[in-house]
Amino acid sequence: MIKRLRTHLQTSGLWWGQCLLCRHDCQHQPLICQQCLAELPTLAYPCPRCAFPLAIEDTHCGQCQQQLPPWQRMQVIADYIAPFPRLIYDLKYHQKSLHGRLLGQLLAQRLTPPYPDVLLPVPLHWWRQFRRGYNQAFEIAKGIQDILPIPIDHKSLRRARYTASQTHLSKRQRQQNLQQAFISKPLAYKHVALVDDVITTGSTMAELTQLLHHQGVSQVEVWAACRTLVH
Ligand SMILES: [Zn+2]
Ligand SMILES: [Zn+2]
Repeated sequence: MIKRLRTHLQTSGLWWGQCLLCRHDCQHQPLICQQCLAELPTLAYPCPRCAFPLAIEDTHCGQCQQQLPPWQRMQVIADYIAPFPRLIYDLKYHQKSLHGRLLGQLLAQRLTPPYPDVLLPVPLHWWRQFRRGYNQAFEIAKGIQDILPIPIDHKSLRRARYTASQTHLSKRQRQQNLQQAFISKPLAYKHVALVDDVITTGSTMAELTQLLHHQGVSQVEVWAACRTLVH
């Protein structure tokens, strides 16, 4: 019985005595061992506006110099490279909610001030959240909150309708898919951070940023575990 319980906890990612990446014991640090932590990729010089990796410290990447994205700042842990794709896939499709907590903690260690008034996890449609059992963006926000005392508001933003999965859509199709996909309650915040797992084209964040600016929010940051190299 105890063996079965232990196996269940291990396969569901809820065994706190082991590193979530290599499964070695790491009692002193609950989610990831020192060695795996040291080997994680980082971004030396991310573009402050879109987190695109730059060769040297610069003001903005070429793309942002031509056209700035609607949000004011983007911060991520790293590009979408190992071990992040596996961590995020298991977070979304294999019930490993604890991976969200780990990603949030890793992200929080790389964030720089000024910090926002509130964290706004990108909402899932209620049906998708019901089927998954949780919103992965909310799990990441909880991980950020383990390190930084910023409140989470997961009630003010909501998906107005069920949108098709974005995974196989082009940037243009994504924009059409997302038109008026979100609604917001009246907000009193001035500076917010939208939290999500991966930024691909940025269509979802652009849609939400416009909505927040209409609500009177002046500073919108995008915080995500990773961004893909698509630019
Ligand atoms: Zn490890
Ligand atoms: Zn940029």
